[in-house]
Amino acid sequence: MNEHLVVHDQRFLHLVLPNAWLDRLHTGMLWAEGPVYFPFGDYLLWSDIPNHRIFQWTQGTGVRIFREHSNYSNGNSRDQEGRLVTCEHLTRRVTRTEHDGSVTIIADEFEGKRLNSPNDVVVKSDGSIWFTDPPYGILSDYEGAKADQEQAGCFVFRCDPADGKLTVVADDFVKPNGLAFSPDESHLYVSDTGLSHDADGPHHIRAFDVKKGHSLKNGRTFAEIDPGVPDGFRLDEHGNIWTSTGNGVHCYSPEGEKLGEILTGETVANVTFGGPKNNRLFITATTSLYAIYLAVRGAR
Ligand code: MG
Repeated sequence: MNEHLVVHDQRFLHLVLPNAWLDRLHTGMLWAEGPVYFPFGDYLLWSDIPNHRIFQWTQGTGVRIFREHSNYSNGNSRDQEGRLVTCEHLTRRVTRTEHDGSVTIIADEFEGKRLNSPNDVVVKSDGSIWFTDPPYGILSDYEGAKADQEQAGCFVFRCDPADGKLTVVADDFVKPNGLAFSPDESHLYVSDTGLSHDADGPHHIRAFDVKKGHSLKNGRTFAEIDPGVPDGFRLDEHGNIWTSTGNGVHCYSPEGEKLGEILTGETVANVTFGGPKNNRLFITATTSLYAIYLAVRGAR
């Protein structure tokens, strides 16, 4: 078996490839996060938050700086029209980069007060934009700019595609962070990484039922992640969750059983599926970007 793989459940052997290796595609970042893949160009974008940049890796070409002065961007996603959606710490907003390169503000305030520092974002098939708003970008100058928190809490928001209005879909998180829908969008998973600033804080992923496509019910703990925290995660076509942890990527079944691990040797912040067949897992891990082919495709 591949030295990077740890099997906890025999089902994991049907999700990974024993002869596929962990490729390091780039290194030298301070904190890599927010990977998003664009099929039409076979390229990946990701943030290096403290270096204030978005990088681009293209198959066959390599790496270039995609955006200098990224406003300490963090999470990135792709909307239904293939446009880049980005969480920005410095400007405390979520933006969309249009096809002509201009940047549209999707959200920067709620009830007249600035957001904390949007962290991670996903776009639902109906065009609604869901994002988390912990304070990591305002706690210090390292990943944004130190500032007072104006919001009463750290919320999970939904931005309506029709009128752009924000609603709070969850308000009982310490530090909401990664989020992703199940393949049929009947469930939303959201992580809480409160452990980062409280030794007794949460380090788990919660699952919610999505009601009427726009609200959350029945929140429960899906999995406790150890070591480290589930900063970000994505689902495969079968609904298994591939999550960041302190030692690599861990894979959980839809029932919350740990199936296996991909060891990276660096703390992982986030992952995303990509490649022309959507069967390659891209991993942003502290200083490096890794990729590994899997025997399973990402959820569409
Ligand atoms: Mg995050």
